[in-house]
Amino acid sequence: MRIGIVGLGLIGGSLGLDLRSLGHEIFGVSRQPKTCEIALQRGVVDQASVDLLLLAKTEVIFVCTPLGAIQSTVEQLVPYLQPEVVLTDVGSVKAAIAQKILPFWGNFVPGHPMAGTAETGIEAAQSRLFAGKPYVLTPTDKTPPASVQVVADLVKSLSATLYQCSPAAHDRAVSLISHLPVMVSASLIATCLQEPDPETLLLAQQLASSGFRDTSRVGGGNPELGRMMAEYNQAEVLRSLHGYRQTLDRLIDSIETQNWSAIEQTLRQNQQARPQFLNPM
Ligand code: NAP
Repeated sequence: MRIGIVGLGLIGGSLGLDLRSLGHEIFGVSRQPKTCEIALQRGVVDQASVDLLLLAKTEVIFVCTPLGAIQSTVEQLVPYLQPEVVLTDVGSVKAAIAQKILPFWGNFVPGHPMAGTAETGIEAAQSRLFAGKPYVLTPTDKTPPASVQVVADLVKSLSATLYQCSPAAHDRAVSLISHLPVMVSASLIATCLQEPDPETLLLAQQLASSGFRDTSRVGGGNPELGRMMAEYNQAEVLRSLHGYRQTLDRLIDSIETQNWSAIEQTLRQNQQARPQFLNPM
């Protein structure tokens, strides 16, 4: 297939590497000429340009720009597109994006690969980023089923695990397991930085090891992405954060009242439940 990718960063670049290795012809558009050069050098794309005109002859286009640029990207793309072109995006929030894009392009299949790293940009692109990871499509009742099938087949070819749900269901679920962790992990780092004693802070930095590396990873990643999650999924992120605050209050109460058995019981339940998030049926 002739596949277009707009936004040659971590996600767009990684898609290009995999789809190209599967034999598709990849046309990439990015904002900076340097990014286009690197994408060509790294074999992410067959052709690259800063001009959306390059995508005029593609059959499927993945919009991989930051959330805040998806709508303007699609508005600028539309004049170049034949009506049968299937557009899809990779944005981390789906209801707001679907609402913004559908008036411009009905043949749009909102999507979200549940894969990432703490790095950004074309240099961070890597092969098989999506393999074994969930990739969710969130068509609306107006999305043409044949277009959903086209994107679903491409997703499956990445060895990703395909899921399908409504944009609203996606945003609620993802606020719990992706957006809340970013906010909590960011707050963890911020709490450490609030330590007023410089010697304690330095010692904490020196002693930080694998536990801190794991728990701070998502909060120490792309600041623009975290801001966009909060901005575009505000209601669901707030709902998750309020739930988290209740959990924290219960924990504080248990510690203040020395209710050690309550803490142990909660931790035991969590230990049993965690695998259901990591290896679901
Ligand atoms: P990224 O590494 O920063 O890549 C985005 C790329 O888009 C940048 O390299 C930039 O290219 C380009 N760009 C920015 N504005 C543009 C514009 N107006 N027109 C054309 N290109 C533009 O970010 P990312 O992590 O790949 O995120 C991209 C999308 O994937 C976001 O919508 C995000 O919600 C979604 N997503 C991210 C993750 C994650 O964990 N990172 C996971 C799943 C989904 P230049 O270098 O040319 O400026």
